[in-house]
Amino acid sequence: MKKEVVEKLVEIVGKENVSTQSADKITHSYDATQEQHLPDAVVYVSSVQEVSLIVKLANQHKIPVLPRGAGTGFTGGSLPIHGGIVLVLTRMDKILDIDEENLTAEVEPGVITAELQRQVEKIGLFYPPDPASKEFSTLGGNVAECAGGPRCVKYGVTKDYILGLEVVTPTGDIIHTGGKTLKNVVGYDLTKLFVGSEGTLGIVTQITLKLIPKPAAKKTMLVQFASIDGAAQSVSAIIGAKIIPTTLEFLDAATIGCIRGKSSIPLPENCQAVLIIEVDGDPQMLDAQAELILSIIKPFNVLDTRIASTEEESEEIWKVRRIVSPSLRQVNPDKFNEDIVVPRSKVPDMIRALEAISKKYNVPIVNFGHAGDGNIHVNVMVDLKEDGMEEKIEIIMEKVFEAAVNLRGAISGEHGIGTSKAKYMSMGLNRATIEYMQRIKAALDPLNILNPGKIFIEEPSQSVKG
Ligand SMILES: Cc1cc2nc3c(=O)[nH]c(=O)nc-3n(C[C@H](O)[C@H](O)[C@H](O)COP(=O)(O)OP(=O)(O)OC[C@H]3O[C@@H](n4cnc5c(N)ncnc54)[C@H](O)[C@@H]3O)c2cc1C
Repeated sequence: MKKEVVEKLVEIVGKENVSTQSADKITHSYDATQEQHLPDAVVYVSSVQEVSLIVKLANQHKIPVLPRGAGTGFTGGSLPIHGGIVLVLTRMDKILDIDEENLTAEVEPGVITAELQRQVEKIGLFYPPDPASKEFSTLGGNVAECAGGPRCVKYGVTKDYILGLEVVTPTGDIIHTGGKTLKNVVGYDLTKLFVGSEGTLGIVTQITLKLIPKPAAKKTMLVQFASIDGAAQSVSAIIGAKIIPTTLEFLDAATIGCIRGKSSIPLPENCQAVLIIEVDGDPQMLDAQAELILSIIKPFNVLDTRIASTEEESEEIWKVRRIVSPSLRQVNPDKFNEDIVVPRSKVPDMIRALEAISKKYNVPIVNFGHAGDGNIHVNVMVDLKEDGMEEKIEIIMEKVFEAAVNLRGAISGEHGIGTSKAKYMSMGLNRATIEYMQRIKAALDPLNILNPGKIFIEEPSQSVKG
């Protein structure tokens, strides 16, 4: 990066907030994918004005700008694949206001998701979206990816809680979308355009969130099944009975195999699937709701049911779910983790399709996830050192995505597209739809400054370099 650009950056944010040191560049060169790309500079910002000035500078010099929260993204969204400036938003981490009369909160983008949840819960309020990364992901990153989580079955995803945004556009202007009101139909709904745009259309510098009253009580259950079909049919039967639990998480036999012995809850060999079901609301109603659910799923090969009667027992159940990701990574660091989504009634069909793919290509596929909203985390356990595996995994991933799309699903439910799924965008979206999205990007970001190379496959001429 040219010396004069570094000097300008120092002028904007101060010497201590700009780094071109290798150690800082390496620290900001990766996310939760296995990929790594070095930036030319790392800049820590603390105000919207600084963000705006940096983006204007980047436009003058045609340098890519990569907004970055905690770097926990699963699809390469924050990676500087063409170098440039990694713009770190974690120091903009103030909860500016919690409004108990209007049930809203104003936050900076670097606030950690779980921190906001803890603060609002202290006063009886609730911010439901709960990605498993909530203890370290930022709300800005959640907005950019439209993050989900187990509770989204009942409460919806991040986009359902964003009322308004302050955004720095790809050309450096500061704009405001939506507001503090629940209703607002003044002009286009720009808030929805930015949520889930993966840092390609604007940098979120302030967020107005909707809060709801905290549910008075909850009841957590762990149900073991003798077959995956039993668990999948149970999900369809619960939803079919018009009951929406707070969470409806499932683990298949291969997942259970990876965590057996690691959880304090025994999971015997004949346990082929697990559902973690939680209901919340009025304490008077919870027992009846739980009993109704258990009676609905009884015919489907249930082996054992554990109902938590204390917060500690509920935590013990959730620990089973939380150890899944790290355990799978331990068993196979090369695993490919995708997050396809299908209409929830199609979960049993999708599971059968995954079993068939696993058998056909002789590769273990481990599945778990948010069955209640049809969002399945598909983990293809490969050894990339095996001859021909790179080519084989491409074919397997295509088959997995094809199966989801054929069931009227989509290739991502909550992790986004980033770099890792860009080449699969045309599965489920026609050419005209993709071109429409690209025209929005080109109109808002004519020099392709903001997070280039994400979501869409790039033409060689589209890349900008520092
Ligand atoms: C163990 C683990 C569990 C996870 N579980 C879930 C889960 O249950 N549900 C789920 O949805 N996701 C999950 N994720 C994925 C990830 O945590 C989410 O996508 C999260 O929203 C990313 O937040 P972040 O702050 O880490 O963003 P980053 O990874 O830093 O960035 C993600 C994207 O957002 C953009 N971005 C970041 N901040 C801003 C901003 N202020 N303005 C504009 N763009 C911005 C970046 O450019 C990038 O494209 C998980 C990840 C891990 C590692």
